Amino acid sequence: MSGGPIKAHAVQLEPPGLSGWAASPTGTAYVHERASVEAGPEVLLTALVHGNEYSGAWALDAFLRSGLHPRRGRITAAFCNTAAFARFEARHPDASRFVDEDFNRVWSASVLDGSRHSAELSRAREIRPFVDRASHLLDLHSMHEPCGPLLVTGLLPRNIAFAQSLGTASQVVVDAGHADGVRMRDYGPFAEKEGSRIALLLEAGQHWELASLQAARNVLMRFLVGCGVMDHGDVPPGWLLPDAMPPPPVMVTHRIVARSADFAFVQDFRGGEIIRRAGTPIAHDAGEAVVTPYDDCVLVMPSVRQLRPGVTTVRLGQRGDGMV
Ligand SMILES: [Zn+2]
Repeated sequence: MSGGPIKAHAVQLEPPGLSGWAASPTGTAYVHERASVEAGPEVLLTALVHGNEYSGAWALDAFLRSGLHPRRGRITAAFCNTAAFARFEARHPDASRFVDEDFNRVWSASVLDGSRHSAELSRAREIRPFVDRASHLLDLHSMHEPCGPLLVTGLLPRNIAFAQSLGTASQVVVDAGHADGVRMRDYGPFAEKEGSRIALLLEAGQHWELASLQAARNVLMRFLVGCGVMDHGDVPPGWLLPDAMPPPPVMVTHRIVARSADFAFVQDFRGGEIIRRAGTPIAHDAGEAVVTPYDDCVLVMPSVRQLRPGVTTVRLGQRGDGMV
C-alpha cells in the first residue's frame, strides 16, 4: 500500500443542484422545514457538514421534493457547509471538504460563542438554533474509502439502542468523538447522560457511489419512522432497503494516528476486518510495526487518503453484544 500518490475514487454520483433551496421561509439559507399541526418530535436532518459528502444532500433534496410531511412534529432539513460544496470539482474531489476548518469540530458553546471567525463558524452559528431545538438529529456523511454503512452513535446507550433498532445492516460504531473539536452530534444536550435527545451520524459508504445514496435514503426514512414523525405506511416505494439485522455494535477503543508520512497498511483494509490475534501487525509507521492491542480487534474506517503526521488512519474496536 505504500508508494505513489493515491488516486481519487471515480465520481459515479454527480453533485446535486441545490440552488433552489438557497432561499428559505426559515430565513436561513438552505434550511427548510416541514411541520405538522400536531405536536411531536423536533427532527433535524443534516447533510454537507463536509462539502464533498453529498450523497446525504441528494437524500435531503429527494425528501424535500417528495412532498412528504410529518404526521406529527416537525422535520427540518439543513444543507450545512454549502460554501465548501460550491467548490466541489470532480477533478479534485477531496479538496472541498471545508473552506477554512472542519465544520464538524466546532460544536462546543465556547467555540460557537467565542470571537474566532471562519467560514464554517459563521455557518455553524446560523444553524445552531436548529440544532438547539432538535430532539432528534440525523447527520448524513460518507467516507473516503468504499465500505459498508456505519452508524456512529457516541457513547450513550440510548443512541446505540436507537441505531440498532432501525432495521438497517449498518454497523453501529460506538466512539467518543475527536480530541481536536466537538462534532455536531456530540453538541450540548445530545451528550447529556440523563437526557433523552437522540443523535446519530451516518457514514453512508464511499462519497460518490450510488450505493451511498441508497443507504442515506434508507436510513433517513427509517430514522423518521423511528422518531415517530412519520408512520411506516407513509414511506413511498423505492426509499427503503430490505429490513436487516445489524451486527453487534463495535466499541472504538483506540485511534491510530500517523506518526510519519510513511505510514502504510500491510494490506488493502476496507473496514470491518477482524484481526484474530493480539500483536498482529496491521501497518508500518516511522520504521516500526503498528500492531493490534487485543484479540478479535475490529478495524474501523481505515484510510490513508489525507495522510500526514497527526491524522487518524484507522480506529480499532471490540464487538460487544452487552453494550445496549
Ligand atoms: Zn463527513
